[in-house]
Amino acid sequence: MPSSIDPALQQAIAARLRFYRDLGLTEFYRRPVDPSDLQTLDASETGPEEDAPRSAADAPTFQIQPQAQTQETTPIPPRKLVPTAPPVAPTAPQIDRVEALRLIREDIGDCTRCALHRGRNKIVFADGDPNARLMFVGEGPGADEDAQGLPFVGRAGQLLNNMISAMGLKREEVYIANVVKCRPPGNRTPEPEEANTCSPFLFRQIDVVRPEVIVALGATAATYLLGQRQPLAGLRGRMHSVRGTRLIVTYHPAYLLRDPRQKKEAWADLQIAMRELGLKVPARS
Ligand code: SF4
Repeated sequence: MPSSIDPALQQAIAARLRFYRDLGLTEFYRRPVDPSDLQTLDASETGPEEDAPRSAADAPTFQIQPQAQTQETTPIPPRKLVPTAPPVAPTAPQIDRVEALRLIREDIGDCTRCALHRGRNKIVFADGDPNARLMFVGEGPGADEDAQGLPFVGRAGQLLNNMISAMGLKREEVYIANVVKCRPPGNRTPEPEEANTCSPFLFRQIDVVRPEVIVALGATAATYLLGQRQPLAGLRGRMHSVRGTRLIVTYHPAYLLRDPRQKKEAWADLQIAMRELGLKVPARS
């Protein structure tokens, strides 16, 4: 590494390399870099894409596995039909997606449909590209998100940003939303009544964005997207379907902060999504 490198950039590259190491990626390959690219790197980020390990081989095709039925399932309480979860809508033309999402936000309004409205500061609708190919769905806002009105902006959000970067994408290229749009007190898990009341808005967002792949972050997101409660272990590592879109399940970034050893498993889940999207999967050691 040249000694003239900007210290902030050096720090960012080191952080990125530590992140890859946590994921189990320990071998990196040099490739020629256009010096002009280096000048455009934002040192405030965790690291540039050029630091990502690359594979020369194309990613293999992912085979959809039949859904195993060995896990015991527990039906979640019936959906409260406020508002009604619509049948899957026809694909919205790209130009209309922004407007369609604006209308959903308008429908939510200053929502008091469930008890979560009492403790919230801001409704957290979503963030990202309405035309995204990849969508992440989490559980609900935390304190930082409640304050800023944006999903995944706290420490867990920083880790999600790193995960997105590791996939070779930018946060602005994906769409991020939650099952509930108001912060549960003390960051508790949303009650079924709360999640069932709010999730129809999420389904409408999915119908508008129509991503090619959805990544459910954690058991709560998986439960309300799939309509059944199952242990996370039984849901990970294979493809599901929700509203005509392929879905994979992985750990919530907040859980990964508590147990970083699971980052490797999460990375394996994200690689499934990458293959589905035709993204190159970095070589593993
Ligand atoms: S969580 Fe959803 S349904 Fe409940 S008050 Fe907030 S926006 Fe309304």
